[in-house]
Amino acid sequence: LALKTDSLSKTQIQIGNAVVGGTDLFIVGGPCSVESREQMEAVASRLVSAPVQALRGGVYKPRTSPYDFQGLGLEGLEILAAVRDRSGLPVITEVMAVSQIDEIASYADVLQVGSRNMQNFDLLKALGRVDKPILLKRGLAATLEEFVMAAEYILSHGNPNVMLCERGIRSFDTHTRNVLDLGAVVALKQITHLPILVDPSHAAGKRELVADLSRAAIAAGADGLLVECHPEPEQSVSDARQALSLDDMVALVDSIRPIATAI
Ligand code: PEP
Ligand code: MN
Repeated sequence: LALKTDSLSKTQIQIGNAVVGGTDLFIVGGPCSVESREQMEAVASRLVSAPVQALRGGVYKPRTSPYDFQGLGLEGLEILAAVRDRSGLPVITEVMAVSQIDEIASYADVLQVGSRNMQNFDLLKALGRVDKPILLKRGLAATLEEFVMAAEYILSHGNPNVMLCERGIRSFDTHTRNVLDLGAVVALKQITHLPILVDPSHAAGKRELVADLSRAAIAAGADGLLVECHPEPEQSVSDARQALSLDDMVALVDSIRPIATAI
């Protein structure tokens, strides 16, 4: 069950050297899209000592427009695996369809379900049969009950290793891309035993908001962060406006440590 049945049990998931949901933070950094081997090597070599605990990068991209870059696919997976092997950092990438699961699971350490697929129940059931942790992002306008039930689909089909990720929800104000729901983070920690990450990048949509929202998320009790960053943020092929520079990503990781130890 995704819901807490007692106050003690908390799901802990070993990913690389980190135990997600334990006392350590799980910080994930990397670009929106895997673009090239050079790009991912630059990200990995800078972030390994930040340190972050995992790298991210999309190779199958759920883009609003079918005319926008759709991701490198298999070539991107090969880049992710090569960078993982060189850096020692586990890699996370999004799976959009049941037909992609076997291929992605043979390269990536964690499979991400994007917001647009949070209620793709066939996908969730199939991920229940996968032997890799799942990072489940909250739907664009999903209630917490819908979010928890989506996790339940994966758990009830046999995979206990699910992390939730709050990434902002639709609202009326267009100033930020979405509205980061930190109330959801606090509530989810009370009602479920699953680890909860926060993605301030897709919530804000603007890089200048990402560091402060990250610190707020950790103060609110998040188990970690998913942050988009890029060696040349302005040149990102997707989500350029929200990408941090690698310098800013390292500074962000530094600034989080005292907050994490204080709470
Ligand atoms: C992403 O992580 O790059 C992404 C597409 O996120 P979301 O599904 O939250 O929009
Ligand atoms: Mn993105």
